[in-house]
Amino acid sequence: MLVTMKAILDRASEGNYAVAAPNVGSELDARAAIEIAEELNAPIILDVHITHHPDFEFIGPVFRKLAEESKVPVAINLDHGADFHQAILAIRSGFTSIMVDRSMLPYDENVKEVKELVRIAHEVGVSVEAELGHVGNGENMEDAGVYTDPKEALQYIKDTGIDCLAVSVGTAHGAYVNVVPKLQFDLLKEIKEVTNNFPLVMHGGSGTGDEQLRKACSMGINKVNLCNDLLKAAVAEVVNANTEGNGAYDLWVLVKKGFKRRLGELIEILGGKDKAWTPEVKGLPTFEIQAGE
Ligand SMILES: [Zn+2]
Repeated sequence: MLVTMKAILDRASEGNYAVAAPNVGSELDARAAIEIAEELNAPIILDVHITHHPDFEFIGPVFRKLAEESKVPVAINLDHGADFHQAILAIRSGFTSIMVDRSMLPYDENVKEVKELVRIAHEVGVSVEAELGHVGNGENMEDAGVYTDPKEALQYIKDTGIDCLAVSVGTAHGAYVNVVPKLQFDLLKEIKEVTNNFPLVMHGGSGTGDEQLRKACSMGINKVNLCNDLLKAAVAEVVNANTEGNGAYDLWVLVKKGFKRRLGELIEILGGKDKAWTPEVKGLPTFEIQAGE
């Protein structure tokens, strides 16, 4: 069933586990993600980045139909919404959540732009993720990232009205080059405590190592963005298979198989297995609207 990301992450934060958010850009990987989530009775978040499918108005309704027909809770989230246009396009295309990433901006500008979109999104029952501190890029040492400050995080949540917060605690985007990320568990613990158990998101989950992921998800991370690990597993499935004489259709089957296998492993590591539920009220929840703001 189709739900907001807020519905998924409020429960995850309360239950102290994390939900997988695989990047998907087609019917194939979205189906793979939902199928494995159903097999494991887990909620799932489809994370859609504009570079993976630029035509939101086409793919949004496809994902929405898959989500509505699913036995488990599925949210559709805009990954790294970079500007106002992308956010509105995602909302209009049926996404149930948007990430408004202004983590490169100074605090006041970040708050101003996020707050504006929170007001719009909540008005139409869509939840909002934003980022404070900045998760860098594992492939580009010039973008090393900035850790999230716990006190600033609390202020940011109050100032913006967001539903979940992406934190920077030692991971990076993309594939790590010659480094093993070292997560700052003390910092994560402090952020979770200072923000009164607010739902927290980890970007750059791939390559972090299963043990670090497991620990982070037992210490306050409630959503883990996954891309590289899943793509690698999909490619490995193709490379390791004897595809001689097979047609292209067999390759899609292998891609899906590899993607599903690794995503299934990660759902278990994150603690999302058997955490699906049936919403009491059909349809999307409404948000508290603060009139006149
Ligand atoms: Zn990210």
